Amino acid sequence: MRLRGGASVLRRADGEVQVGAEPGRAPVLSGLSEEESALLVQLGEQAHGPRGLRRARRSRVGPARTRELYAELSRHGVLADDVAPTEPDLLHWEAHGVDARERAQRLSRCAVLVRGQGPVASRLTALLAAAGLGAVRSFGQAGDVGGLPAGVEPALAVSVDDYTIHPLSARAVAQSGLGHLPVVVRPLSVRVGPVLEADRLLCATCLALHETDADPAWPLLALQYLLLPAAPVEGLLVEQAAVLAARAVLDCLGDAPWRWRQTSVELGVDEPLGLVRRWEPHPQCLCGQVLAGEEDDGTDVRTSGRLRPPSRPPRGRPHGRPRA
Ligand SMILES: [Zn+2]
Repeated sequence: MRLRGGASVLRRADGEVQVGAEPGRAPVLSGLSEEESALLVQLGEQAHGPRGLRRARRSRVGPARTRELYAELSRHGVLADDVAPTEPDLLHWEAHGVDARERAQRLSRCAVLVRGQGPVASRLTALLAAAGLGAVRSFGQAGDVGGLPAGVEPALAVSVDDYTIHPLSARAVAQSGLGHLPVVVRPLSVRVGPVLEADRLLCATCLALHETDADPAWPLLALQYLLLPAAPVEGLLVEQAAVLAARAVLDCLGDAPWRWRQTSVELGVDEPLGLVRRWEPHPQCLCGQVLAGEEDDGTDVRTSGRLRPPSRPPRGRPHGRPRA
């Protein structure tokens, strides 16, 4: 038997111990004798070497009571009976109460496609490769991907574009049918999210319509953004943005898929803690009507030619830009 995540057992008072050192996430066992407290403390020490194990074997707590204590630990979800992993990531996710080995296997079957150049894209690609994904591939304008290892399937597309989501990125991802995590690198900030999923409201057009609500010149500016050279980005911001984007990818792949739906985070020197924005589907975007149509008649109108971008800019919604 071992404690998940390599947790330690700490004494809180006479006859009372807690499992783990994370405030608010450490189960408390009370009403213990001194021998029982010592047994539990020693159980926590097993993770730190064989000396603790020998002491546990010498415990004066009887087998029936030991089983009771183990059952209580099990009810709290902190007990495991397999061999402890040694990788810090696995121990960390165990401590979260997650089946860390299952999570690692799940990630090993996922390929993430990254479209973009520049330091944020490079750093993000390196972080994702180190996170245990089955594959990290760059993908180009056609959205096609080179051969993937057996059993590995594309699971998410990430675009890293300068100034605005590049129309070619949006189109390439739409053709892939994958969820799309856009990362936009601007001169003073990097925006990560919101994730855009084919079967949910909110799409790249919604985001563009909101930008236009906030600044009517946005469509003209966006055209010019496509031609601008990339802005220089501070090294620390590159790291911070790449780490946040990598976390967002892992969230979207199962750790917390809801977190990035309709939500973006902007990082910069002025917002080092991250400016969170909520994005609503734009009322003038056709994605809402398309999804409603699918629900009405069960047909996929995305392939029927009815989906077109709005022909004129939206009016009359000055509050359209999402608020922090
Ligand atoms: Zn939309």
